[in-house]
Amino acid sequence: MTLAAAYPVSNGYRLLTPSNPKINKGRSAGYWTFILHLSPARVAGFNTCPMATAGCKAACLNTAGRGGIMAGHGILTEADVLAGVHNSIQAARVRKTRAFFTDRERFMEVLAADIAKAIRVARAKGYTPVFRLNGTSDIRWESIPCNGAASVMAAFPDVQFYDYTKIANRKHVPSNYALTFSLADGNDAQAATALANGLNVAAVFRDKATVEKHIAGGFMGFPVFGGDDSDLRFLDPANHVIALYAKGNARKDQSGFVRD
Ligand code: SF4
Repeated sequence: MTLAAAYPVSNGYRLLTPSNPKINKGRSAGYWTFILHLSPARVAGFNTCPMATAGCKAACLNTAGRGGIMAGHGILTEADVLAGVHNSIQAARVRKTRAFFTDRERFMEVLAADIAKAIRVARAKGYTPVFRLNGTSDIRWESIPCNGAASVMAAFPDVQFYDYTKIANRKHVPSNYALTFSLADGNDAQAATALANGLNVAAVFRDKATVEKHIAGGFMGFPVFGGDDSDLRFLDPANHVIALYAKGNARKDQSGFVRD
């Protein structure tokens, strides 16, 4: 398959989604985030989230925002997506995910080309480019070679990467890759270990009032920092629980993923 057919350009990029820096919350800090969205969990037939829980899959940001809107159908759920009810955004994520697992070398070449372009574009407009490769997945990017380098972080050592993760034992994480552990239903023990080891832990709370309550009183024995003013997790204060409020299908969660 040709490059153009396998990796069509959308919004200027073959794999990355450029956040809109005009409305992006990171803009005020001068950062421009570029995100890679793969299909989460087993949606595309490959497991991109080895530690996903029932609650996080149902509440996943995969179906928040434009990714969850489907004309004539309403808001997509995880069950819809698994049943193959796709909008164009979901279809693109499935295509990218299958390419990652079946066409790895070329995928990483295309990703590196996208990152190089994003760096040029962002810097030309006066922004600092930053990258979230697990927008809707939980891949160990630090272990995947890229264009002869040990990882995509090693290939671009002077730019910042950051992600959430539910994998507690990620090792050899490069210094330009900031990880925030993600609390979910059933992984409290790993989250406590992550906090004890110096990682921040992100927790999703029911609503803004619940976030405020925990900012005032702490959570899991640690101070709480409100994380919704910016997606720039690498700028968060260390040794904190990062409080986010529920969005999309997460608002209805009763699995224990969303905390009260
Ligand atoms: S691990 Fe993250 S990306 Fe994967 S299904 Fe859960 S919330 Fe979604």
